[in-house]
Amino acid sequence: FTASELTKATLEKIEKTDDKLHAFIMTNPEIALSQAESIDEKQDFAHVLSGLPLALKDNLATKGIETTGASKILEGFKPVYDATVVEKLNQDGAISVGKANMDEFAMGGSTETSYYSKTANAWDQTKVPGGSSGGSAAAVAAGLVPFALGSDTGGSIRQPAAFNGIVGMKPTYGRVSRWGLFAMASSLDQVGPFTRTVKDNALVLNTIAGFDIKDSTASKREVPDFTAQLTGNIKGLKIAVPKEYFGEGIDPKVATTVKAAITQLEAMGATVDEVSLPHTKYGVAAYYIIMSSEASSNLQRYDGVRYGYRADDVKNLEDLYVKTRSEGFGDEVKRRIMLGTFSLSAGAYDAFFKKAAKIRTLLIEDFNKVFANYDVIVGPTAPTVAYGLGEEVDDPTAMYLADVLTVPVNLAGLPGLSVNAGFVDGLPVGLQIIGKPFDEQTVYQTGYAFE
Ligand code: GLN
Repeated sequence: FTASELTKATLEKIEKTDDKLHAFIMTNPEIALSQAESIDEKQDFAHVLSGLPLALKDNLATKGIETTGASKILEGFKPVYDATVVEKLNQDGAISVGKANMDEFAMGGSTETSYYSKTANAWDQTKVPGGSSGGSAAAVAAGLVPFALGSDTGGSIRQPAAFNGIVGMKPTYGRVSRWGLFAMASSLDQVGPFTRTVKDNALVLNTIAGFDIKDSTASKREVPDFTAQLTGNIKGLKIAVPKEYFGEGIDPKVATTVKAAITQLEAMGATVDEVSLPHTKYGVAAYYIIMSSEASSNLQRYDGVRYGYRADDVKNLEDLYVKTRSEGFGDEVKRRIMLGTFSLSAGAYDAFFKKAAKIRTLLIEDFNKVFANYDVIVGPTAPTVAYGLGEEVDDPTAMYLADVLTVPVNLAGLPGLSVNAGFVDGLPVGLQIIGKPFDEQTVYQTGYAFE
């Protein structure tokens, strides 16, 4: 195969099948094909990703290519620069064929808040693909592209990976540059890869990780070769299993499938102990306050003046802001802007934002105590398998509660991987592997031995 042949075949396959799946908001055939041609011309296959097609979540800035965050407010917006992760993939010869669907500004867990379309689960078209990176996950699971990038603020890589039976990694906060990722909650957001195997995932992280002068929170730590510990050997690995991750609200069939996976890890020579992360039950409340506070501030930039959509027939500047934002944002985004501005307001700050910040510290301490004695923490990625399209989206509280197993990892800044643990009623179940800060290698080692 030449890169051009592969790119053409990929675009044709998307054209043929994506009217059912709706994994993509749009494709960019001309740019993708011209990149492929230049790789073929130079015969530049030095890098492992050279010539391979991928999908980018539509909250990653792509120079000259419309990037919407799945919001009406950014309809028609073409960034003038590439996100750092996009630049790095370009440099290594990977070819982005299109922008994947997502929840509007990454706010959601089912990709149903997108302004553009609803994506189907790759295993059952009546089910949600998870979210917010549902398009990226479905595109990889359906075999449209070998890998994709997503973003994870509270589970948006791990949960759709779980729902589609693939591999999704949220790296340690600071491991990957956030430059060019549309900010949702800046202290929680991370970019990461979706793939079908753990090894592929580690290879993609090798490309996108590393320090970036343009992101003040990007870590200067050296980037190891994330494939180096993929030996298949986990003898002596110390695994902690939090009892709270199998408590109320977790589907018993999901729990059984994940416990069977843990038994398998034990049979391979790992030691497994039950532990407690006692503040887990406060994670969702703390997350929704901190996330919405940061998001309400980050979303101020969409004012109808600088980017994308602008309302017509306005009387004055104030009216322009109000009308543009009223028409441009969807309900879930508005709900979070209201929650966030309320939590940060003078009268509510102590009772909400400050309290949530304290809970965040308690959650970090929970993890630290366990990691003093263990290498990884293992449990389910999500409390259920994929549910029906339209089933949950009108019940925000139920949607938020379903994030209980993923948000503590973002609040603590830890790496978290989801790999397939098995199936319940024909739908995939995710096994979540959580690691110490910057120890993606041991997380991958565990996932690799399991799959
Ligand atoms: N489902 C979570 C939320 O709605 C996570 C979103 C994300 O990680 N971007 O906030």
